Amino acid sequence: MKGIYPGSFDPITNGHIDIIRRASKLCDTLVILVIDNREKNITYSLEDRIEMIKLVTKDVPGVVIDTYSGLTSDYIANNNIDVIIRGVRNTIDYEYEASLASIYKSQVSDVETIMLASDSKYSYLSSTVVRQHAMLHGNLSEFVPEIIVPIIKSIYK
Ligand code: ADP
Repeated sequence: MKGIYPGSFDPITNGHIDIIRRASKLCDTLVILVIDNREKNITYSLEDRIEMIKLVTKDVPGVVIDTYSGLTSDYIANNNIDVIIRGVRNTIDYEYEASLASIYKSQVSDVETIMLASDSKYSYLSSTVVRQHAMLHGNLSEFVPEIIVPIIKSIYK
C-alpha cells in the first residue's frame, strides 16, 4: 500500500512525527509531500522544511520525501497513491479534514483518506505553537526533536 501524508510542515513537529511513525506501519511506502503552493504565508523555506523532515524521519522505514506545487489531487492521481493520511486533533480539524476527504474522493475516486487521531500528548501542538515559541526564544524541547532546533531558531536570531 502506498500512502501520502501531505502538509505544509512549517516546521515539522512531534505531532507530525507521531502520525508519520504510525502511518508507516500501515503503508509499505509513505510519501511525505511537502506542499509548496500555499496561499497561506509560509515561514520556512522549502529547503529548510525538507531538511528538517529528513533529519527526523531517517529511521522510519518506507518514508520518501517529495514536494509538489500543483494540486495535491493531481499528485495523488499521477503517483498511484492508495491512501491519504491526515492527522486529527479535535473537532475543528475533523470538519476541515472531512471536507478535504470529500474533495479528494470526488477527484480521485479510488483513493481513501485515513484520519489518525492525534496522540493526546500532541493534541495541543501545531507548527504555529512552535513558531511562536521560537520567536520568543522559548524552550522547544517538548515540541520538536533537538536535532532540528538550530534550524528552527536560525530565522529568529
Ligand atoms: P496543512 O497546511 O495541510 O494543514 P500541516 O503541516 O499543518 O499542513 O498539517 C499536516 C497534517 O498533520 C494535517 O492533517 C494536520 O491536521 C496534521 N497535524 C498537525 N499537527 C498535528 C498534531 N499535533 N497531531 C496530529 N496531527 C497533526
